[in-house]
Amino acid sequence: MRKQIVAGNWKMNKNLQQGKELCSSIMSQIGESNREVIIGVPYIHLASLAELTKGTALKIAAQNCHHELSGAYTGEISAAMLADLGIDYAIIGHSERRSYNGENNALLVKKVDSALSQNLKVIYCCGETIEERRLGDHFNLVENQIQEGIFHLSADVMKNIVIAYEPIWAIGTGETATSSQAQEIHSHIRKVIYKKYGPDLAESTSILYGGSCKPSNAKELFSQKDIDGGLIGGASLKAEDFISIIKA
Ligand code: PEP
Repeated sequence: MRKQIVAGNWKMNKNLQQGKELCSSIMSQIGESNREVIIGVPYIHLASLAELTKGTALKIAAQNCHHELSGAYTGEISAAMLADLGIDYAIIGHSERRSYNGENNALLVKKVDSALSQNLKVIYCCGETIEERRLGDHFNLVENQIQEGIFHLSADVMKNIVIAYEPIWAIGTGETATSSQAQEIHSHIRKVIYKKYGPDLAESTSILYGGSCKPSNAKELFSQKDIDGGLIGGASLKAEDFISIIKA
């Protein structure tokens, strides 16, 4: 059985007090959920929220990490620092970081390696723009992002990778991929993993959908064969919506 995962991405939202309240509210409602529930929070809240969630079912993710473990990189945070706080996951390659911070696959390889070297699990994001989809390039593009970003890993290490497919045209836009559009590309991603690593890893890798996923469409998306949960932006900022997505 593949792990079902719902991961929130708060992006640059919530002050510490609001973050603690949201976190406590989620913790009180997920109980003994057999799904993995993760929240990706701003760097400055990591220490407090890691402490607050210690020993609970709620896991904390960083939204990024630097590719070096230490050194003269003003303003940056390393995977070693995250691991020291007891952080479980790092989100790597989110489209907003790819586009606003110029992160390309070559850099993402280093970030992935750095995070894994500190025993963090990685949520590796991929996804196409609307122009790429219109040109019919989305299958190749996503395949490329995956091959170049994570296919240098051994099968054993790949077990620590969760893939998030997030069509850029659906992120924060209110426009969601239809469940069949999402299933089609998730299935393609699984086939790509199969070709490289074989059936066991293809079967066991969790592939999340992200892009305007909300309580009203989560059930339909998550009922698709190759969709194992979601990476949730806007709808993870309200406990009620996030919980309802987890239940879906
Ligand atoms: C995201 O940024 O990862 C995301 C999926 O955002 P939203 O749910 O707001 O589209």
